[in-house]
Amino acid sequence: MADVAPVFGAGREVAVTRRDAIVIGGGPAGLSAASVLAQAGHEVLLLEKESFGGWVMNLERVMDYPVRGETIAGNELATRMIERATECGVRLQVGEVVEVESYSRTKAVTCSDGKTYSAPALVLAGGRLSAPLGVPGEQALAGKGVIHCAACDAGLYAGKTVAVCGGGRAGLVEALLLAKYAARVHVLEAQAQPSAPADDQERARAHPRIDIRCGVRPLEVRGETFVTGLQIAQGDGEALLAVDGVLVHVGFTPATPYLRDLLALDEGGYVVTGEGGATGVSGIFAAGDIRRGAARTVAAAESDGAAAATAVRRYLEESKQ
Ligand SMILES: Cc1cc2nc3c(=O)[nH]c(=O)nc-3n(C[C@H](O)[C@H](O)[C@H](O)COP(=O)(O)OP(=O)(O)OC[C@H]3O[C@@H](n4cnc5c(N)ncnc54)[C@H](O)[C@@H]3O)c2cc1C
Repeated sequence: MADVAPVFGAGREVAVTRRDAIVIGGGPAGLSAASVLAQAGHEVLLLEKESFGGWVMNLERVMDYPVRGETIAGNELATRMIERATECGVRLQVGEVVEVESYSRTKAVTCSDGKTYSAPALVLAGGRLSAPLGVPGEQALAGKGVIHCAACDAGLYAGKTVAVCGGGRAGLVEALLLAKYAARVHVLEAQAQPSAPADDQERARAHPRIDIRCGVRPLEVRGETFVTGLQIAQGDGEALLAVDGVLVHVGFTPATPYLRDLLALDEGGYVVTGEGGATGVSGIFAAGDIRRGAARTVAAAESDGAAAATAVRRYLEESKQ
């Protein structure tokens, strides 16, 4: 169990909580790793920068997940995972990790608010982030009409017009969710055809409030305080699309920029792992979509988390000797 030790420095006493492991990322992989470790009696801190449950929170229905019945709502599944972690004794805390340092027996983690935490072992479970469009106006209007999650924001666009950039599976799934509220949803795909699976395309094409436009490239998000339009290139010409929101789903990038100098990443930025998610840095393990070659399903991420937890337990046991 955790204990509190006094640390003296610069004339003040600071309480430091000892813990066995820190898990970065509160999606299925991180919640699973943290729950398994806590259930085995370890003291675990889980840091999540946005929403506990991870990407699952964005899913209207989770397919291919082994539950009774055909599918389960994403927020229901995420809630179950969070409840399990809480019941197991995991300490869930909001915090965006921006730096990790590795010393022989200690890993130090720094968050964007300046707080620092340390533990002998670390599980990296940050998953993937939605890649940016990389056009003018996108950053300035982030959260002011430029969005990444329909489940979080769809209600704000009731009766409005939204452009969804990206005709992959994520784009179409999000467009279908937005169209429950929005008056019009334009899906803009740069290629000649959307890359989403055929059944998602069929559902989107059949929807009366969704239109799919191919060969369209976003050039600039327009608006003063909120999004009012999207400048697009189509064929040889340009046009201004009047929209109230721009949802960006043009691909994913692993949540690993802060890990670049610490451990081996592949050319796409994914963490290269061995058995049990071992990263090559002693005491640091990775699980879920952040790993190279991950199966990228909820069940696989949970299984990965459990495997990483087993590897952490072995590491903690061995480092005691
Ligand atoms: C459109 C779409 C539909 C999908 N549908 C299904 C489906 O039907 N069935 C299925 O099984 N799978 C589906 N998936 C895949 C599934 O959602 C993922 O495989 C799974 O969520 C991966 O879990 P994870 O824990 O590895 O990562 P995530 O779920 O991405 O969780 C990672 C968490 O880490 C946090 N994080 C990242 N960086 C930091 C940091 N620096 N500090 C603190 N926290 C951080 C993030 O905020 C996030 O909450 C779908 C994916 C997409 C994109």
